This record gives sequence, structure tokens and C-alpha cells, in this order.
Amino acid sequence: MRQAAIIALAVAASLTSPACAGPIVEHEAAKLPIFDAHIHYKEPAWEAFPPETVLKMMDRNGVAMALVSSTPDDGTIMLWEHAPDRIVPELRPYLGDWGSSNWTEFDGMADYIQTRLEQYPHRGIGEFHFRAMETTNKGLLKLIAGMAKKRDIPIHIHSGTAPVEYFYEIDPDLTIIWAHAGMSEPPEVISPLMDKHATLYADTSFREYDILSRTGGMDKAWEVLLLKHSDRFMVGTDTWVNSQWADYDRLIASNRECLAMLPKDAAEAIAYRNAERLFGIDVSSEQLGRR
Ligand SMILES: [Zn+2]
Repeated sequence: MRQAAIIALAVAASLTSPACAGPIVEHEAAKLPIFDAHIHYKEPAWEAFPPETVLKMMDRNGVAMALVSSTPDDGTIMLWEHAPDRIVPELRPYLGDWGSSNWTEFDGMADYIQTRLEQYPHRGIGEFHFRAMETTNKGLLKLIAGMAKKRDIPIHIHSGTAPVEYFYEIDPDLTIIWAHAGMSEPPEVISPLMDKHATLYADTSFREYDILSRTGGMDKAWEVLLLKHSDRFMVGTDTWVNSQWADYDRLIASNRECLAMLPKDAAEAIAYRNAERLFGIDVSSEQLGRR
């Protein structure tokens, strides 16, 4: 009889849980407001995850605000217009057939970026990709660095080390968010680059399983890196395809799992305080449920 009651309770609990809920983190990290520094709202997501749904997903995960860039930029503007107090828009320089592999070859790209920046209050330029520096239009990169600097906004780069160094050669005072902390770059490469450039930030998207050790706890090299540069990392989920949106609860839960292993100051910095400083905003749990 008692056993049956326990099973009934367990079934009832599972029915009320969100479909993709991750592990429950029993730590104050579970309550920190999150600034998600790597959201895309691309066209295929618009119907499956309308703006109301995206806000509900942010709310139930304690994501107070997000840095959003999209292909095309209309997705970012749609989300920002729906929830201007929750969305920090960022201009991704992709449109039509000009995407991650060829965007620097589009003759009208500098004009497009300039026009969009004048039309809307974007707070960053990116996230954009680099395939090979040798074939990249470097004149355009100089123009982008100038536009970012003039507006005092960061650029958000998906690349290895070389393009980050190239942008700092153009202007050592640029602010750069290194998407996915270099994607496959190890802590031994990320750490000295952050030592060298005080304005180099990074987001954790796609690095959750590098940061979390397979044997439990946090990977030692990542722990050292996150503690040393806790003033430069931000949480990120990278909703680049709809399956990432469907997995959003779990992605935030993984990030909270990492935060729960850090001291309070470092966890707060990475969860939202670095974004507050970088964008001159206030991030708080009181924003949840609002737009
Ligand atoms: Zn990326």
C-alpha cells in the first residue's frame, strides 16, 4: 500500500515537471538570475517558438535577459519589440544568401551593417563566423571594428584564436565576446589570451561538457580558468537550431550545474554581473514574467 502511494506520488511529480527539465540543482546557483549571452532567433524558430513561448522558456528557467542575434536580423528585432526590457539586440551581418561561410564577400555588407545600426538599438555586432582568415575581406573587418568602437559596443566572434588576435591588432581597445570561448580552444589557450586582452569576454555555449568533468565535478583546467577570469565569462546556450530550443531547459540546467560548483562571487559574475557591467544594464529575477 505504502509502495503504491510512493509510485503514485512519483508519477504525479513527473507529470507536472517541464518536458525537458534537467537535474534539480540544490544550491543557490539554482536561483541566480541568468543573462544568456548566446541566443539566436532564426527564421525556422519563429513558428515553432513564437516570442511569447520564448519568453515563457526564459521565465521558467530564470533567464532574466538575453543577448540575441539572428539570421535574418528581423528575428532579433521581433523578439526585442516583444520584450524590450528582456532582450539585448545584437546585429548579425547575415542576410539572404550571405551567411556564415561568405558574408564578408558581400559588397554591400558595410552599408547594410551601418544602416541597421542606425535603424535599431543593437548593442553588439555578431555573432559572426570565420572560415579562413586568408580569404576574409579584411577591409570589412576594419570597418566593423570602427563601427563597434564608435558606438562603444562589443563584437561577438565565432572563431579560433587568429581572428581574435587580428581584431586586437586593428584596435587593442576593442571589446570582444569570444563565442563558445573559441569552440574547441582549450583552457591553456583561452587563459593567456584573456591575460593579454583585458577586454576579451567569452560565453560558455557548447562548452558545458568540457567544463563538467565526465567523472563528476568540474574539469580541473576549466575550474582554474573560470576562477581566474570569472570577470569575463557569461552563460550562453546557442539556440542555433530548433533542437537547441527544445533542449533549452537542460542547457540552462547544465550551466547552473557549473555555477553551483563555483564560489558565490564567481557564480554571480558569470550568471549576470559581467553582462550588467558590459552592457550597462540591471539584471534581476524581478524581470521574470515581464517584458
Ligand atoms: Zn557560434
